[in-house]
Amino acid sequence: MTESVNFNVIGTIDSPYKEKFAIPRQPGLVTAAQGQLRLTGSANNIELVRGLEQFSHIWLLFVFHGTQEQGWKPLVRPPRLGGNKKLGVLATRSTFRPNPIGMSVVKLDRIEQKDSQVILHINELDLLDGTPIVDIKPYVPYADIVPTATAGYAQEKPTTSMAVVFNTIAIQHLAIFSSDYKDLKQLIIQVLEQDPRPAYKHDKLDTRVYGMVLYNLNIQWQVNEQSTIEVTGILKVKENPDSV
Ligand code: SAM
Repeated sequence: MTESVNFNVIGTIDSPYKEKFAIPRQPGLVTAAQGQLRLTGSANNIELVRGLEQFSHIWLLFVFHGTQEQGWKPLVRPPRLGGNKKLGVLATRSTFRPNPIGMSVVKLDRIEQKDSQVILHINELDLLDGTPIVDIKPYVPYADIVPTATAGYAQEKPTTSMAVVFNTIAIQHLAIFSSDYKDLKQLIIQVLEQDPRPAYKHDKLDTRVYGMVLYNLNIQWQVNEQSTIEVTGILKVKENPDSV
């Protein structure tokens, strides 16, 4: 009986999501999220993806490298259930699994070879920057869509109940950065609409100023009324905190 298997990483993700906080819970929820998958090692060979451009979407199988070291738990609290009900980890899409393997369907925009680097341009991802990829498969609708499928507590897309507004300063900051980051405004809106705060904060008075990192930008925001998030500033993340 095989008790363990060893996989080689075949690619790495470049993502606007530089930290776990505020990454959407599934792909497709934030359509403005654009990233790249760079093939690595012996998999960095254009022949491996010959024909893949015929598919609009692909499956990515990856390692939850950002939480891998924390190990796994038999029971977890899905955010969809408000974070206060425990379910078996295998009944959820939690990152804290016996094998930290994730799977996401993403949109395949185009495939490029730049110098000797093969790059898959992908959209709508839910992956942390630097995520190691262990497999890529074409998404095949006739097999992968099950129209009669039921999904218990996760039957419907999470509702996006938050309105997102930008104050005057944030509008000025957006104007500075929008030319460097395509669809930046849409990305910020779509991420914040999901209300990235922990579930227990949702129905409480919350005066905290939050920060989230997208690309190399620190987006600052707060909850104004129960259902409005106000973006208050967009600052470049300091590359070296010791430099002035
Ligand atoms: N679509 C995948 C799946 O179903 O296997 C991931 C679902 S999981 C609920 C989504 C969360 O995983 C994101 O909100 C983000 O916080 C986290 N995540 C994404 N990439 C990760 C990584 N490389 N390491 C750790 N956590 C990651």
